[in-house]
Amino acid sequence: MNTVTGRFPVAARDRLRAEAERWERAGAVPRTAVATIARTGALGAMVPAEYGGAPWSHAAYGDANRLLGTVSAAAQSLLTVHGMVCRSLARWGAPAVRADWLPRLAAGVEIGAFALTEEQAGSDVSALTCTARPVPDGWRLTGVKRWISFGMLADVFLVFARTPRGQAAFAVRADDPGLAREPEARTAGFRAAHLARLTLDDCAVPADRLVGRPGFGLAEVAARALTLGRLCVAFGALGVAEACRDATLHTAAQRRRFGRRLGEFQLVQGLIADTEVALEGARALAQRAARALDDGDDWAVAQVLTAKLAASRAARLAADCSAQLHGAEGLAEGSPVERRSQDARVLEIIEGNTQLLQQLIAEQVTARWRAATTGRDA
Ligand SMILES: Cc1cc2nc3c(=O)[nH]c(=O)nc-3n(C[C@H](O)[C@H](O)[C@H](O)COP(=O)(O)OP(=O)(O)OC[C@H]3O[C@@H](n4cnc5c(N)ncnc54)[C@H](O)[C@@H]3O)c2cc1C
Repeated sequence: MNTVTGRFPVAARDRLRAEAERWERAGAVPRTAVATIARTGALGAMVPAEYGGAPWSHAAYGDANRLLGTVSAAAQSLLTVHGMVCRSLARWGAPAVRADWLPRLAAGVEIGAFALTEEQAGSDVSALTCTARPVPDGWRLTGVKRWISFGMLADVFLVFARTPRGQAAFAVRADDPGLAREPEARTAGFRAAHLARLTLDDCAVPADRLVGRPGFGLAEVAARALTLGRLCVAFGALGVAEACRDATLHTAAQRRRFGRRLGEFQLVQGLIADTEVALEGARALAQRAARALDDGDDWAVAQVLTAKLAASRAARLAADCSAQLHGAEGLAEGSPVERRSQDARVLEIIEGNTQLLQQLIAEQVTARWRAATTGRDA
């Protein structure tokens, strides 16, 4: 589906940047910012042209995530979850749902959110307890979903639940009977991401809202969506790391201590160099992963895992160095430096925590090594 038709305009980033501190302090990306993002075409980037989208390559979509990441990790997370929902509905949604919902999602008139996590099923999504009970005219969903990004703003949810024939994904509307949402307690990072707790109480959804088929939900729908989500987080993390590096360089050049600029101290130069090496290494991995997805490379999924791990670590390192160099100012609650430190922590938890990614990468590399050596050793 992907073609290189899109590019996130730098002017849109600059417009959003001018107001981001205000909405970050208020704790909510405003609808006006969502409208600005929609006008760039990025919300239709994962929707086929026949449904009103204008598909972007993974490289172009990644770069949009990077640019938004330099502004606000919360705003960037809209591209992650909305893209995951659009991509899943376009691929596995029923024809009527695709025709009806996707044009509005592509235009950004409606927003999609991805509802997988539960209190006891975060990294271990096989432990889902939300159920989908078949009834003559469709399904009844019951359970609680936690920490759903843009859940308070979304019109449409992709909800994962357990059916008698295995886990499945469902397209659910915010106004479906039996769905209620409330804001999550404010998190330290991603403060403006409209996090919601969804309660599904015998929520009635028609039969054609099944996305894929029962038993297919985690293995295919969630797994493929998570690959896109991880790529988005990797690029978003690059944006956070770039913003932290720039703040570090600014302070190193401006602030004088002991009669010298901070940047003249070799130990401070070490912080700058470590940030640069981590950032540029992660950028190369993220760009390679995006190209691999665009080319349909067999090894693309592993490359996305590697990129997400490296970029989220780079963001954390860049944020730590930046906070260190800003001294007390970097700890002031609500300051951009403190905000990015907290956002960087979140990046190491969402879309696969660091330790889980290490496990998955090790498994993939080991499998590849076994496949390569088995024939040779025989
Ligand atoms: C800001 C924010 C936005 C979010 N947005 C969404 C969203 O839009 N949709 C959604 O469905 N969910 C969302 N989540 C939830 C997120 O996906 C989960 O928090 C994440 O999957 C981790 O799950 P958990 O918090 O239950 O931690 P756990 O799964 O309990 O993991 C806690 C820690 O245990 C360790 N650990 C876990 N597994 C392993 C392992 N295999 N090996 C070694 N150590 C391990 C890691 O150190 C990990 O950090 C969001 C969360 C946050 C904070």
